Amino acid sequence: MDGPGVRFVLFMNGCQMRCQYCHNPDTWKLKSGQKKTVAETVADIGKYARFLKYVGGLTISGGEPLMQPEFVGTVMRRVKQEFGLHIALDTNGAFAGTVPDDWFDPVDLVLLDIKQIDPVRHRELTATELQPVLDAAQRLARLGKPLWIRYVLVPGWTDGFDDVERLADFVATLSTVERVEVLPFHNMAAYKWEAMAGGRYQLADTPAPTPEMEQRVRQQFFKRGLQVV
Ligand code: SF4
Repeated sequence: MDGPGVRFVLFMNGCQMRCQYCHNPDTWKLKSGQKKTVAETVADIGKYARFLKYVGGLTISGGEPLMQPEFVGTVMRRVKQEFGLHIALDTNGAFAGTVPDDWFDPVDLVLLDIKQIDPVRHRELTATELQPVLDAAQRLARLGKPLWIRYVLVPGWTDGFDDVERLADFVATLSTVERVEVLPFHNMAAYKWEAMAGGRYQLADTPAPTPEMEQRVRQQFFKRGLQVV
């Protein structure tokens, strides 16, 4: 889910991670998207603001929104000031350390992906370090930001019992977590990877998780008193 209710989703181009299961490799390049100014973006959102205010809000997604912190921070502040919308930030957390605490002031909810809790497996899966993501999770909890933690369940990569136990233990220490979303992997993005120059989709033969696997992983979070969807 992109957040509660009906959402205007602003997709930002650019992502520094290289998740092997990425559904949107076409958003990795910072400059491959449509160029818009802050004023144009706020005006686009403003067309729907009266409706969104009562039924949902704005979600900023990607790519990775924190690759363009100045633009996103300004859009969020203006949308909050001018329309009072509920704002959700969909992030992988890795760049959260590049912005000050008050950058998050307009954010009402963070949809935070944690891809793997084992640092070596995390690097293999995403080509990125894990620690900044964990730091971001703890910082956002300290700032009182409600969190929806998202975990993509990939057989052979993120389904290990012990890994999920460690992740569930960590998530249970975050006081502002409202829910954990366990998202079953599917390989429907294979065609996008093939379309990208040099794109090599290593998970083409990876199956979707079985219902039993999903159930077991959900239970591991649930046992810590976390709400799991
Ligand atoms: S963080 Fe998201 S957009 Fe970036 S590579 Fe991973 S799945 Fe794709």
